[in-house]
Amino acid sequence: MTKNDRVNLYDLAPAQLHSTLGEVVSPPFRIKQIAEWMHRRGVESFDAMRNLPKDVRAKLEERFTLAFLQVVERTAPASDGSQKYLFVLRDGNRIESVYMPMRDRTSICLSSQAGCAVGCTFCVTGFFGAGRNLTPSEMLGQFFIVQHEHKIPLEMMNVVFMGMGEPLLNLEHLIPTLDILYTNIAPKRITVSTSGIIPGIEQLARLDRRPNLAVSINAPDRKRREKIMPITKKYPLNELIAALHHYPLERGREITIEYVLLAGYNDSTADASALAKLIRGLHAKVNAIPFNEDPNLPKWMQRPSDDAIDAFVDTLVRNEAHVTVRRSKGREIAAACGQLRGKTERKLPQRRVDSAARTEAADVERDLVDRERR
Ligand code: SAH
Ligand code: SF4
Repeated sequence: MTKNDRVNLYDLAPAQLHSTLGEVVSPPFRIKQIAEWMHRRGVESFDAMRNLPKDVRAKLEERFTLAFLQVVERTAPASDGSQKYLFVLRDGNRIESVYMPMRDRTSICLSSQAGCAVGCTFCVTGFFGAGRNLTPSEMLGQFFIVQHEHKIPLEMMNVVFMGMGEPLLNLEHLIPTLDILYTNIAPKRITVSTSGIIPGIEQLARLDRRPNLAVSINAPDRKRREKIMPITKKYPLNELIAALHHYPLERGREITIEYVLLAGYNDSTADASALAKLIRGLHAKVNAIPFNEDPNLPKWMQRPSDDAIDAFVDTLVRNEAHVTVRRSKGREIAAACGQLRGKTERKLPQRRVDSAARTEAADVERDLVDRERR
């Protein structure tokens, strides 16, 4: 068996891991030990599983791998300590994660796809077009590599799926990844951010253990949302808001409403009032995200002045909405995951409209329709 034929055990959901190992390893407590080395410790080799007999390790090595991904670049820490990681996958795709230390907790922002077919016009990941779904080992790899490098105690960790890609178009791999992360991190410490894929939200709603939900609303009405988020044509804003009203929330939890502030487009105080009205009755908090500029994005898109941001937030508060603002420079690198890859690829010609990207976009769309039918 060549290395590439071997099953990567990090791609298996917990139950699948147990049944797969059951065919090779006994007694059952050994399987538990292996699962602990993987899901609690994130080890990258069978040799690291020190309490396993040598022959068991050799047997595992013959049949399986434990591969994650490779770091290509880390940015220098920003003023608040945040750091962006660029990874390369085995097929050469590049993705990003962000490490964000805070006073008493640390967040890691993970990518779920190597690109994004949703194509929001203000987003660098959308600009580069569709990319494939990441596997569980690739999502867990981002998590464990950053966690190991910074030696973050697991009980201090938050995970947000707000990096590159649309996690709810990759539920097949997202759900086992969540199940594995839950070994260390409570569901209330994990947030999944979506552009509003309604069937995906409904599928999350049916899970026994649900992550927090964040939804990128980004405009106060259908027309303006449609212009910057074309997905609104498929999943209309009013239907999205209705789906959020149905999302079951544990006590003390809120849905996060992400709202990218674009100067002169969606940042007036009238827009703030309209947004407050749109989400009235939801257990929700608004996360106002000042637009992060990028040379790949349209010139008219700009970050509002601090005064405009303040006025927007004040109006929301006056309308009784809960609000947080992503202000610090470091935090912004998370809002614009995809921009590091963008920087390294900017000079390549015709990235946006190459035909391969278009075919992949069509595939994603087809997947989506299939899922709805099922
Ligand atoms: N696909 C998911 C998660 C990844 S995007 C989603 O759209 O929610 C994560 C967040 O980054 C979204 O709220 C998106 O609106 C925001 N974002 C994307 N590009 C941005 C930019 N240039 N400036 C500020 N925020 C941006
Ligand atoms: Fe995709 Fe989210 Fe970017 Fe939209 S904002 S293109 S859904 S990653």
